[in-house]
Amino acid sequence: MLARELLPDVQEVLETRREPPYRLSQAYRALCVSFVRDWEECTVLPKGLRDELNEKAPAATLELLRIARSKDGTRKYLFQTRDGHRIETVMIPEKDRRTVCISTQIGCPMGCAFCATGLLGIERNLKAREIAEQVFVVARDIAPERVSNVVVMGMGEPFLNYRQMILALRVLNDPDGFNLSARHIAASTSGLVDRIRRFADEPEQFHLAISLHTPFEEERRRLMPVASRHSISEVMSAARYYVERSHRKLFFEYTLLAGVNDQPRHAEALATLLDHPLYHLNLIRFNWTDTGFSATSRKGAREFLEMVRELGLSATLRPSRGADIDAACGQLAAKDLRGRPVATTG
Ligand code: SAH
Ligand code: SF4
Repeated sequence: MLARELLPDVQEVLETRREPPYRLSQAYRALCVSFVRDWEECTVLPKGLRDELNEKAPAATLELLRIARSKDGTRKYLFQTRDGHRIETVMIPEKDRRTVCISTQIGCPMGCAFCATGLLGIERNLKAREIAEQVFVVARDIAPERVSNVVVMGMGEPFLNYRQMILALRVLNDPDGFNLSARHIAASTSGLVDRIRRFADEPEQFHLAISLHTPFEEERRRLMPVASRHSISEVMSAARYYVERSHRKLFFEYTLLAGVNDQPRHAEALATLLDHPLYHLNLIRFNWTDTGFSATSRKGAREFLEMVRELGLSATLRPSRGADIDAACGQLAAKDLRGRPVATTG
């Protein structure tokens, strides 16, 4: 069923040729387990079928144009879609983890004031196949190391592309597909309340993060236009629904912007707002983008972390990774939009 939804073009070729149904599973496994990029590599399929698939339903929907490598080990992948748009994907290595941060839209329509992706506007939603394929390419690139975590925190607002995003996550989670535990998969939303509830109702144990960025209504509207649609109290009531329904931890993302949202009054209001044992506050210092904001100092960020912890919150300060290659949170903009393609396979 997942294979059919993910690969309608492959299914069509198989049906026209009256191939047996197991061919679809073979093709699905070739993509999700063996990460083939050309049907020629899938030798369980007969030669004639491989040729016709290559012609009518190619294995790769994204062309890998370039891999940028940060001195901290982070890698950024620049892809081109079949219709000529560019997206980015990031792989962040940690001690025992290899996290892939994937994109769900070409650009993003949400317009958050500090985010480089937001400056682009939106071209279109990505298909589930294009979303999942980002992970397959990274998995192939880092082999024999394995992808341990996937976060939907790249370009785009994933909950505006809900159906395709959830299909991609299911394929990543599928024991016959990429086979990654749902607990190692997380999505982040700027706070679309209906979709937060829908996500809570999904049977899988995917994790969720909500981008909060300030506990104050007026301020949030200035930082995130979506806040004019959904008030903080609406977001918090969807958050409550999520934890009560799923009994899973819920993460709140908070980008520290110097002089904007890093004052003691913010820490105090956060302590009141995030008063649930399953809520966790993820602080991150602003990564530079050309938006007029600046980052809270390292010292200021540590002090803010101490403050919220003393007020009783469960909180962490996440390090920025890959900033030297513009791969850190909020920096993805596929900015070499007119750059000359350089094929790399690492
Ligand atoms: N669109 C989704 C997920 C992608 S962004 C969302 O907004 O939640 C992942 C996180 O990075 C979000 O919390 C986002 O607000 C944050 N972010 C955006 N720009 C940033 C920047 N310049 N520095 C640090 N974090 C940023
Ligand atoms: Fe879109 Fe997220 Fe950037 Fe906001 S922070 S513009 S929702 S990608």
